[in-house]
Amino acid sequence: ERVTSVNQNQDEEAGEFTLRPKKLEDYIGQKTATDNLKIFIEAAQLRKEPLDHVLFYGPPGLGKTTLAGIIANELGVDLRITSGPAIDRAGDLAAILTNLNENDVLFIDEIHRLNRSVEEVLYSAMEDYALDIIIGKGPSARSIRLDLAKFTLIGATTRAGSLSAPLRDRFGVISKFELYTIDELKKIIKRSAGLLDIQVDEVSLEAMARRSRGTPRVANRMLKRVRDFSQVKGSGVIDLAITNATLKSLGVDEYGLESLDRELLRLIIQRFKGGPVGIDTIAASIGEDRVTIEDVYEPYLIQAGFLHRTQKGRMVSEQAYKHLGIQLPEQG
Ligand code: ADP
Repeated sequence: ERVTSVNQNQDEEAGEFTLRPKKLEDYIGQKTATDNLKIFIEAAQLRKEPLDHVLFYGPPGLGKTTLAGIIANELGVDLRITSGPAIDRAGDLAAILTNLNENDVLFIDEIHRLNRSVEEVLYSAMEDYALDIIIGKGPSARSIRLDLAKFTLIGATTRAGSLSAPLRDRFGVISKFELYTIDELKKIIKRSAGLLDIQVDEVSLEAMARRSRGTPRVANRMLKRVRDFSQVKGSGVIDLAITNATLKSLGVDEYGLESLDRELLRLIIQRFKGGPVGIDTIAASIGEDRVTIEDVYEPYLIQAGFLHRTQKGRMVSEQAYKHLGIQLPEQG
């Protein structure tokens, strides 16, 4: 259902939430992750135990939160969502943990951003379903142990490598999320179009899928913008003319690259002779955070063949020169 709101952001989020599939059978792609999870969920249910803790990693917008919701739904338990940066102190985490019911799922997004003291509380919670609390100060301080309901922690992060080893080791299941194929994205856009009650012809589906950077969140957002254009400027049915006009106005080119992607490639070509150049130098030159470049921009640029990661740094490909219409340097 559509939620009407004067707040554009809220509206976006509410809209996105309704596009989230709620059942495993409606979740498209990520076959390795979902096939395994299906088995683990069933086994946990047979044993009447909580599902083992799960770590999801991969670029943003690939369906980690969505899959966590589906897991809770399949298990028939409640889902509690929070994020690393939102948990300031150990006490905040303790409050969340003590409020969980048996077998509930706790989802912590950006789990690599938990601070040290909070992370330490998580260790015993994950391993023993218990909290160790220190009471008092100095020589009279003592520790008491508080039992928690058995729960499943689902952590999400952009990179598994950014987690501390003790935290990573406490996850029984670690799943990597991959960029989606064009076919999978077409299915996702088609499904979303159905839910939003809009008609999209086949060529437009294909065009949107190709320009979605392998990312369902980008695909859904694009579909909504194309819908806006078709309602205001077109007949209401989405065809290729409307799709192309929308993407052009959004600055998305035929490979799905946006202005920052192109700026990044151009920078490496013009200032660093095409590379290799270190990621920190790129970040400083372009005024973007290193982590954002690595987690948000690079995965697609690499997959699409515009950029390579080498020992000495990043290098652009011949394809990047061609795409930007820049003459390749003389070999030699
Ligand atoms: P993440 O947590 O990885 O950043 P989300 O779970 O928030 O990503 O997904 C972003 C959006 O993409 C959601 O609105 C959801 O509707 C859509 N989406 C993600 N994965 C899928 C999928 N496998 N099938 C259908 N829709 C998906």
